[in-house]
Amino acid sequence: MKPKVAFFDFASCEGCQLAVLNCEDILLDILGLVDIVEFREAMSETAPRFDVAFIEGSINREQDAERLRDIRARSTYLVAMGACACIGNVQARSNFIAPAENFQRVYGVEDRNMVQTDPEFWPLWAHTRVRAVKEIVPVDFELRGCPLVPEEFVHLVKALVTGATPRFSTQAVCVECKMNENECVYDQGETCMGQITRGGCKAICITNGYRCDGCRGILPHANLAAHHGLLQSKGLSEPQITNRYRLFCSAESLGRVGRTGHDK
Ligand code: SF4
Ligand code: SF4
Ligand code: SF4
Repeated sequence: MKPKVAFFDFASCEGCQLAVLNCEDILLDILGLVDIVEFREAMSETAPRFDVAFIEGSINREQDAERLRDIRARSTYLVAMGACACIGNVQARSNFIAPAENFQRVYGVEDRNMVQTDPEFWPLWAHTRVRAVKEIVPVDFELRGCPLVPEEFVHLVKALVTGATPRFSTQAVCVECKMNENECVYDQGETCMGQITRGGCKAICITNGYRCDGCRGILPHANLAAHHGLLQSKGLSEPQITNRYRLFCSAESLGRVGRTGHDK
């Protein structure tokens, strides 16, 4: 019996699902190993139970959390897929803004009092907080990155099918950056999140001429105080440093870096 696999999306750009579909050279091999029973991006069928549920997207509303709990209850393994599902991603920046203010900014409503009192509006924002999947249900595996790394997706599927233990990098992006023999961007007067960011992406951004912005999230053992001091020494202001930490890692950085409450 092939394992039954399903894909679900929440608040996301669907780029991680596309990254999976774009694994053209090995997709047929993968399809030979598993039975994909639900995948809105590619098919219309649904299924009652799954051996593996892949979850893309952050969880923003209570009805999304309920849907996620239902998927968890029907799954043997649950995989958070991409930065949105693993750490909240850029949309979690709204956690730092008062909900009514956020709604006002996004939808261009001029009267803030109306946002807070009009029953047409308040249900849309009153209970909204962007959360990573693991803040709501237990997660068995994470495929980090924005988007996920296709090789890690394939590695995980093969491990789940064969019963092997999947292995992901526990080192900083800097390690892979050095292995690629890149010149460090600090030597070019730039700054970088690579020292505190989980590796596994082969330092693709630096290798292609940019810096690391930290889309794979903060390493558990990262020395944030030292990194913060380094960014300060390079002339970044506190708001600039806060923005760097919050760009991708908003949900994960709550309570670890920067201010933890609403900005306003
Ligand atoms: S992690 Fe990035 S690519 Fe994947 S769904 Fe979220 S925004 Fe899109
Ligand atoms: S460029 Fe960034 S990831 Fe590469 S070595 Fe320097 S700090 Fe580390
Ligand atoms: S280099 Fe940094 S920003 Fe780029 S993919 Fe890797 S973790 Fe993400």
